[in-house]
Amino acid sequence: KKKERFNVAEVIKNTQAIMEGVLKKSGIAVNLQYEEDIEVEGYKNEFSQVILNIISNAKDALIDANPPQKIINISMKTSQNSLTIEIEDNGGGISPHIIEKIFEPYFTTKQHKKGTGLGLYMSKMIIEESMGGELGVKNGKSGAKFIIKLPVKV
Ligand code: ADP
Ligand code: MG
Repeated sequence: KKKERFNVAEVIKNTQAIMEGVLKKSGIAVNLQYEEDIEVEGYKNEFSQVILNIISNAKDALIDANPPQKIINISMKTSQNSLTIEIEDNGGGISPHIIEKIFEPYFTTKQHKKGTGLGLYMSKMIIEESMGGELGVKNGKSGAKFIIKLPVKV
């Protein structure tokens, strides 16, 4: 399949729009911050699926943790040849003993039928195998922080 060039912020905004109803209903605010429009070569729909997975997981964590303000911060930064997208929530984060397992297929902490455990596995495949980037995770200040790195061709 041929790669296509797409505007990353635009795809993130469109993906956010798809989830607007469910985010609003759950009282979750999404902030997107970036300085310049960046285009990458890759697979737009698959990339959108990755963003959808990560936002959807953040939503689940926020509903469980139920902090008074539920926030998902998305930021984009470019350095020389790469773009870094960080998606951070305040949903309590991921226990240290499971953080290494979350990208494994069928790993889920959610109830049967609620979680397939495939979202992050597939997301990692898309970002790393198909698009030549990296997908990682850390615990941030008060929740999980997913970090996507993508190569940028100028
Ligand atoms: P699923 O959502 O079906 O459980 P995923 O592969 O999308 O499968 O995620 C795997 C697991 O990673 C989740 O069950 C959850 O335990 C953990 N996880 C993912 N995102 C977050 C997050 N933002 N905050 C806390 N835990 C998370
Ligand atoms: Mg998921």
